[in-house]
Amino acid sequence: MPDAFVQESLLQERVGNKTRCNVCARRCVISIGGQGWCRTRENRSGQLVTLIYGAVSSRAANPIEKKPLFHFYPGSWCYTVGSWSCNFGCPWCQNWDISKVTPDGGEYVSPLRMIELTERSGCAGTSISFNEPTLSLEWSLDVFRLAKARGLYNTFVTNGYLTPEALNLLIDAGLDAMNVDIKGDAAGVRKYGKGIDVNHVWAACQLARARGVHVEIATLIVPTVNDAPAVLHGIAARIVAELGPEVPWHVSGYYPAYQFTVSPTPLRTLERAWHIGREAGLEFVYVGNVPGHRYDNTYCPQCSTLLIERHGFEVITNGLDQGKCPWCQRTISGVWQ
Ligand code: SF4
Repeated sequence: MPDAFVQESLLQERVGNKTRCNVCARRCVISIGGQGWCRTRENRSGQLVTLIYGAVSSRAANPIEKKPLFHFYPGSWCYTVGSWSCNFGCPWCQNWDISKVTPDGGEYVSPLRMIELTERSGCAGTSISFNEPTLSLEWSLDVFRLAKARGLYNTFVTNGYLTPEALNLLIDAGLDAMNVDIKGDAAGVRKYGKGIDVNHVWAACQLARARGVHVEIATLIVPTVNDAPAVLHGIAARIVAELGPEVPWHVSGYYPAYQFTVSPTPLRTLERAWHIGREAGLEFVYVGNVPGHRYDNTYCPQCSTLLIERHGFEVITNGLDQGKCPWCQRTISGVWQ
């Protein structure tokens, strides 16, 4: 691993002759010479270091709708980077080529360079995405502080399995919005995520909301894993109860990848999930990965007026009037400009 990528890790504490990492909710206790579950943090003589500071596996300017974030600066673009590895073990990972590999250096992008790339490409903000961004905590903090000083927004696309300590650091540094992937019910997430307690994810969403971060939820619907109506209803009902009915829920289709060969998610399953979400009380449910589908649009939850029409990741029309429905004046939850 080149030295440029190695930096002292934040949120570490000694536990006897080992060291605990408190970046994500796994809270790995790591022996000298060992690595954490995600392989991005290593114990060197009692001190934890991150191996992926500024290590970029992929980068691109993306529409904010691709995250997906539909109620946050619609039509804007964000400069998006990913690094390596993950703290979950999902066998269907759609980004397995960067998430399931040992951290491998890649391109070094300094925080300042990240800001330059963002501004030169005409983007309104940053997004740490593609692999799990929590693992890039130290670099993200440096990027977010610089971005805020330049009037840019900051976003995370995350599995939400970060500790309150890490999340508070990110919010203090300027995290504005998160898309959080809720992968299923407690049993399913524990089994497929490899020992994950989904309650930590819900707690992170609640903390983010309480601190003013814009939150949208996504669920990749994987047949045989989380497509049962009871599972989908459980997710939707929990968003309503714990986060609020105004929090958008994106349901999207999976494609066979990595170790999973089950057929792709049928469209009827996504449409059924949309109805389950609406019947549970959610005001905004979206069907993803189906360009041009009517459930990709934003409708007023009070009078059903079409407010934002989309095709794929493109905003076709935006009829919001200062965050309100122009017909019935209902305030539409979101960060609009
Ligand atoms: S980030 Fe999470 S998985 Fe990685 S070493 Fe720290 S606690 Fe373990």
